[in-house]
Amino acid sequence: MLDMRRRSFITSLAAASATRLRAQAGVHPRLFLDAQRVASLELQITTTHAALWKAVRQQADSLAGQNPSVYRDDPTPNDEQLWQRDVGNAMPFLAMAHLLTGDVKYLNGASRWAVASCGYPTWGKGTENGAGLATGHQLLGLALIYDWLYLSLTADVRDQIRRTLIARGGTMYAAARNTAYWRTTYLQNHLWVNVAGLAAAGLALRGEFDATVWLDLVRQKFQSTEAALGPDGASHEGSGYWSYGVEFMLKYWHLAADAFGETTTSPWWNQTAAYRLYMALPRASWSSASTNVDIADCPRNEWYGPDYLLRRLSSLHRDPYAQWLGGELDRAGVTANTARWLNLLWYDPSVVERPPDALPTMRHFEDLGLVSARSGWDGSESLLVFKCGPPLGHAAVNKFDYDAGCGHVHPDANHFVLFANGEWVLRDDGYAWKQTDQHNTLLIDGKGQLGEGSQWFGALAAIRPQANPVILEAASTPGVDEIIGDATAIYPSTSGLKRFVRRLLWVKPNFLIAVDEIETDMPRRLELRFHTEFPCVPGENGSLIAQGKKTKLRISLLTPDQATMSYSEAAGKDRDGNAMSLHTVKLESTRSSWTNIMLFSW
Ligand SMILES: [Zn+2]
Repeated sequence: MLDMRRRSFITSLAAASATRLRAQAGVHPRLFLDAQRVASLELQITTTHAALWKAVRQQADSLAGQNPSVYRDDPTPNDEQLWQRDVGNAMPFLAMAHLLTGDVKYLNGASRWAVASCGYPTWGKGTENGAGLATGHQLLGLALIYDWLYLSLTADVRDQIRRTLIARGGTMYAAARNTAYWRTTYLQNHLWVNVAGLAAAGLALRGEFDATVWLDLVRQKFQSTEAALGPDGASHEGSGYWSYGVEFMLKYWHLAADAFGETTTSPWWNQTAAYRLYMALPRASWSSASTNVDIADCPRNEWYGPDYLLRRLSSLHRDPYAQWLGGELDRAGVTANTARWLNLLWYDPSVVERPPDALPTMRHFEDLGLVSARSGWDGSESLLVFKCGPPLGHAAVNKFDYDAGCGHVHPDANHFVLFANGEWVLRDDGYAWKQTDQHNTLLIDGKGQLGEGSQWFGALAAIRPQANPVILEAASTPGVDEIIGDATAIYPSTSGLKRFVRRLLWVKPNFLIAVDEIETDMPRRLELRFHTEFPCVPGENGSLIAQGKKTKLRISLLTPDQATMSYSEAAGKDRDGNAMSLHTVKLESTRSSWTNIMLFSW
């Protein structure tokens, strides 16, 4: 009976969805916008959205005066031809500017960029051709030109775009269904970008080409992602890829809401703006080169937005803090302009900005195992971020026995970073080779944690044993914050590790004590590393001093009877495996039981 009812409910949902799609056939624009929305946007760009429109129009002006990239065949990393992403990103600016002004220069620009994109002989090389990020971006850009400018394009250009969308969309569909490595990586940006592009292509063609199987597949991919996202809003890919992934997920869900009446279902969405807020550096330090914590594969600045992403999240969840952060980043001039046309669609002035002054200074993202703690919200505070959790988070541990999107994770359990007086003092390695020795944590006999040792995180090594580091405590009081992590489980059994528990006591704002309790099966060569942003010199009483531009960090070993402390330039590897060096403080001890206590003061 229940099954029958469910079946009839699903049938009626499908019928409603089909009716909605049939009603859209032949009507343009239909992607993100319809005639009514365009009319209201024409008014908004003279009032509430005037400043946002000015920035979009300037970018469209610039693009209209440029020629699109000429196809080039030189080798690119992983055969991805990522320069084509910029071509895909350019097209919506030109299409939107023509839609809102009727100015023919934008139409001509849009046609020129679209024809160039259609003419590229490959969209990615090898197995990437038609099945990677270059395709995801270009499908979306072309779909918007096709849909938004449908009646204005010449018949030739329109036909060329239609044929390209059908052919390239078909290749992407086959990859997403059968062959691409990312087809079941429900927690990874490649899947989201690629099938969001496929959705836009399918919806733009509706009425002229039957894309039902494409759209059904895309819906299934995003529904599986909804079921896989953890509950805490954090991203294992780091803040940079968070922006990238969220942009394409939000694009898809906007299209899906209009086309199918479907919305997100995961609790992750209601929390994820807070993840970006707590990964924000103290705002007095923001520059175009530095805005956020760079744990995992992450730049220190922005790749995508995130102003328009935060505004969309603010609008969907009536979140005044997300609205504030989006506004502050925008006003500071530190956002990335990649898709800022989305500001026009996603800024909702009915949500009033609220600064985070009254929010807790500590937030524990319990699923991923990430704690952000700061000494205040005045913009010049100190910031401590600590990580100790399974690669994809606790919720994913029992869900996946394969790599569902670990590539950008770092082998960094019990690692922490510190930012003070407007600059980094203890640092992450950023977008780099996956090595534990590039993090502020423990090595045993020179080796690190499961998953290390290659360009991309070795997910199977870490997932199959279900190695689950865990945060045992994250407590904040006005004077002292305490964080405790147990990373024992993420070390290989051959390490002989029986216990690695780290306790951080932060006497705010400028004294941090780190207590590490380590036990192994027999005496082993144990080493704790701390990487400083600036080089160290000897200080008084055996301490080390890392002198920054604004901050003097003093590093003191409080248990000198158990270990030796030294400083050197340690060898590391960047994201492509090239040599780089790191300013490294080493604590070394050969024993089976070691309690090490450090004091960091600044
Ligand atoms: Zn790292």
